[in-house]
Amino acid sequence: MGRIITVISGKGGVGKSTFSANAAAYLTTMDKKVLLVDADINMSNLDIIMGIQDEVLFNASDIVNKRCDKQKAVIKNVFDNLDFLSGAIGPNDDPTEVINGMCELLKGMKHDYDIILIDCPSGIDSTVKALAKISNASVVITTPDITAIRDAGRAATMIYGEKTDDVRLVVNRVRPKLIEKGLAPDIDEIIDNTEVRLLGLIPEDIKIQIYSNKGIISPDIRKSRSAKAFENIAARIVGQDVPLYKFW
Ligand code: ADP
Ligand code: MG
Repeated sequence: MGRIITVISGKGGVGKSTFSANAAAYLTTMDKKVLLVDADINMSNLDIIMGIQDEVLFNASDIVNKRCDKQKAVIKNVFDNLDFLSGAIGPNDDPTEVINGMCELLKGMKHDYDIILIDCPSGIDSTVKALAKISNASVVITTPDITAIRDAGRAATMIYGEKTDDVRLVVNRVRPKLIEKGLAPDIDEIIDNTEVRLLGLIPEDIKIQIYSNKGIISPDIRKSRSAKAFENIAARIVGQDVPLYKFW
């Protein structure tokens, strides 16, 4: 029976989709069968980051509204062990119905995957709450900005209320030099302010933007610091006893 993990944040643009794509890629290298779901139903863009935008012809709302069956909407083998499902909705779809239908669908798919990783919209709206309810765990993403940190803490508090008590923090876009100079909050401060246990740290890395724009995920496995960071986090998600990857 697979686990459902939601990737959430308070503030937008902190790297949820980037994290989801890369974490999913590394989870597959740990022999896990993964379904990556884009649940940002209004602003979906994970397909672009994955470089499969031309393949996404159907989505979860098409399944829920019986416009196609599951086989057609799930994109199989984006690469080994990775399938993809878009949650984008059509203009005439009722979002509540789609989300409820999608939750039922994903619960049923737990038998087919080791991990269902869900890239959520920013903030905690009814969509995220519904997805959190069916999840086994949530990963809250923040950047080291005080606005994002405060919102991450709020998001985590709201998620605890939705019965996911396994909530972990990922700090993205960490710039060690700024921390060393006292120009950015240090990691302990961020943990204290969010009151969420740390899962991992990801460095600021221009390569992430370059490859996202090209729709290429993790091309430099094991070479760059950010690749190592995603790999470390994936290992910790699957319960491997590895220390936090601290890149400074
Ligand atoms: P969200 O899904 O939370 O809205 P995205 O994953 O779309 O955020 O990321 C927002 C932007 O930040 C994108 O342009 C992405 O390439 C960039 N980005 C994310 N993480 C990093 C990082 N660690 N280093 C550099 N750029 C990053
Ligand atoms: Mg996103």
